[in-house]
Formats: sequence, C-alpha cells, structure tokens
Amino acid sequence: MKALRKLAPAPGLLLCDIPRPPPPGPGEVLVRVEAAGICGSDLHIEDWSGGYEFITAAMPVTLGHELAGRVVDSGEPGLPAGTPVVVIPSVTCGRCAACLGDDRDRCLDRRGIGMTREGGFAPFVLAPARNCLPLPPGFDPAIAALTEPLVIGARAVSVGGIAPGDRVLVLGPGAIGQAIALMAREAGAAEVTIAGRDDAPRFAVLERLGFHGLREVGNKGLTHLAASGRFDVVFEAVGMPTLVAEALPLLRREGVLVIAGIHPCPAEIPLNTVVREQLQLRGTNRGKQADWARTLDFVIRQGQALAPMVTHRLPLRDALDGFAITRRRDATKAVLLPEPGDE
Ligand SMILES: [Zn+2]
Ligand SMILES: [Zn+2]
Repeated sequence: MKALRKLAPAPGLLLCDIPRPPPPGPGEVLVRVEAAGICGSDLHIEDWSGGYEFITAAMPVTLGHELAGRVVDSGEPGLPAGTPVVVIPSVTCGRCAACLGDDRDRCLDRRGIGMTREGGFAPFVLAPARNCLPLPPGFDPAIAALTEPLVIGARAVSVGGIAPGDRVLVLGPGAIGQAIALMAREAGAAEVTIAGRDDAPRFAVLERLGFHGLREVGNKGLTHLAASGRFDVVFEAVGMPTLVAEALPLLRREGVLVIAGIHPCPAEIPLNTVVREQLQLRGTNRGKQADWARTLDFVIRQGQALAPMVTHRLPLRDALDGFAITRRRDATKAVLLPEPGDE
C-alpha cells in the first residue's frame, strides 16, 4: 500500500509502497483510513527543524495522526467491522504504574500513532480498539479528523482556565488557533479576538466560523490589540518566541498566558512584568484522554458548521502538495483521502 513516511532524521518525506499491516491481534482493530489531516507538527517533521527528535528511534515510520475511517477487521467484539471511527493517536502501554493506576496520560511508554508508531497517511492503520471512538453513520470523515486538533484546543482552553465572560486573545489563526477560539467560545468566553499576520485565507475561515474580532497585526507590534482593554487569557499559537514578551503587557493583572506553539529557540521573558503584574505562564501540549469524549461530542453537534476548517481535500498520492499548501498558509486543514488504488 502507499504510505507517506519519514525514513531518516533529516529533511524530507517519501511516498513509499509498503506491506499492509498484519491482521489485528486481540483488542486491536484494522482501520481503513478515510481522512487524515496534515498538522503543523507534520511540517516540522518534514523540515526536521528540531523538536521531534523523539521519533527518530521509530523510523522509518508512516506519519498521520489526525484520522478517521472505518473498522475493516476487528480483534475486539465490541467494535465490529463496519464501524466508522475517529482514532485517538496516543497509545498507552496498559502495563506501567500510571496505566495500572488509571492515569494513562502519564504513561511511561506512550506511543503516538503517526509519530512513534505507524500512522494514517496510508490506506490502513492498526490501532488498539480502545483508541477508536465510534462516529454516527454517514458522518463526514474529514470533519471527524478535526477532532484531534480540536482536542488540543480544548486542552489549551482548560489549561487557560477560561471562565464565562472572559476576554480572550488568540495569537495565530492557524488550525490550533482556530481550535482554541472555538473551544474558548464553547467555554463561555464573552469575546474572542484572533490576531495574525498576512493570514487572509485563515481569517476568511474564522469569519465563516462566526468570529469577527479578527486583527491583522502587520508590522505594528501587538500593543494596539489591547486598545479596548486588556485580556483575561492570551494564547500563543504561533511558535514565535518573541511573542511571549510582547503578549505579557496585553494581559490584565493576574492574567494568564498559555503557550501552545512549538518554538525553534528560547524566549527572553521580562520577569519583573510577570512578578509585578502577578501573571501566569502556562504550557499546553496534546490533549488528555478525558478531553476526547467531550470534544467528539462537540464535533458531532457542530457537524457541517466546522466544514470551513477543511480547506483542502487531496488524494493521498498528492500528499506532498498538501504539505506545500499547508506551508503556504493557504490551508487551515488539508485532509488526505486514500483511494482504492492506494491499497
Ligand atoms: Zn497534530
Ligand atoms: Zn503505560
């Protein structure tokens, strides 16, 4: 079958022919991938610009961790063939102290589908049945594949402690920024402002998602963003280290800065501002197991209302074009669709 793979710890990805996965063992399912979203982290892995060294030991490995599809072979009676599913990429070992203590998020031997085990930029992927959440019949798999980035948004909003009535600023209108904006609104934020630079296509998506507080930053710096008042919570979803210092003055006293971007180098932080204003800096990454059910519930309720986020649908064989589109920031989410000829 065709598969988009990372072969070595160096720039590049390759669309290869590899054998199909073996039949599922007990508790596993074989999923026919119907949609797999391209993520910013996939671009970082293609570039090999740092931050993903942890996947080296798993290479060669098929990428693709935002996926939805259909069970075609099952080793789990509770999840029969034919069930449409969204796949949770974080695979926990089930054996370590954390797993046995029902705290899977702290698993000591976690593997990520599409990072440290075979992923979904391929027609088939093997997954533990407990990582598969059933979808309603006929649900658009490309929209279901948005669940993973929306889980990251949901986690970021929980980390930020958004309360009803909060004024929220999101720096970065990409897929994660959009996910944060959606989940902040869902959590009751009174006002969600989203700032970007040369991001017209992504602002257009946000308009269609019902957001109107869109600010083009240009070269003006960020100060003007707080012209009508400071924010309770600011999210950094760009991965630009200098934004951390620029964002702090936008917060009200005791405000919270949540850092969600993956940064290429350290940041300089004016600590006296943090101390005097009693600000909090918090990091967020991935989601937790508990975030999945509530986020999937949100995705199912929203359904086609989320369709503007899926800006590009491409066949798997054009995967690298999808990467280029995502890199140009034309896309919020480019989704790869395997075709019968890829199998
Ligand atoms: Zn991702
Ligand atoms: Zn474990």
